[in-house]
Amino acid sequence: MRGGLNAAGCEKGMVILMKKIEIGKRLTMIICTFILLIAPFGAIAAAEKPEMSTAHTHSYAESEMILSFSALDKEWHKLRVRKYKVCTLCGDTQEISINDENRRHAFRDPYYTGANQHVGSSHKVQYAKKCWVCEFTDYWWSDPYPCPGNGNCIVPYSIKSEEK
Ligand SMILES: [Zn+2]
Ligand SMILES: [Zn+2]
Ligand SMILES: [Zn+2]
Repeated sequence: MRGGLNAAGCEKGMVILMKKIEIGKRLTMIICTFILLIAPFGAIAAAEKPEMSTAHTHSYAESEMILSFSALDKEWHKLRVRKYKVCTLCGDTQEISINDENRRHAFRDPYYTGANQHVGSSHKVQYAKKCWVCEFTDYWWSDPYPCPGNGNCIVPYSIKSEEK
């Protein structure tokens, strides 16, 4: 044992007192931290709640859906188009109209169909392009071009496969 009985007792008392102060400080810090952490979240939650649920101003974006289609000629197809508005926040839908409209085909890139013909000393190949909306396909032949023939016909390097 170090020192006398009194000194030892005092030392013990001081240690206990220090521990209590320490605990008190920590407790206060913990409570303060807790309040600091919780308070802002509470405020945010309270502010956001009405917007996230039912009460909001609808934010509509126009959209359209093709109900049916048919090709009219090489240039045009006829579409039955449903136009509507849809809220980007809640998905609420409002009808605008259903109308038949004539629109130009929306062709994909032309491709070589694989069909080709050797005539005399020239050759020609067939190309096509397909509308991705109504699937109408427009075919045409290239201008004849000089070709040696006899098994050495000149045709496009590859047949570009049609996208599906
Ligand atoms: Zn809405
Ligand atoms: Zn079309
Ligand atoms: Zn040829």
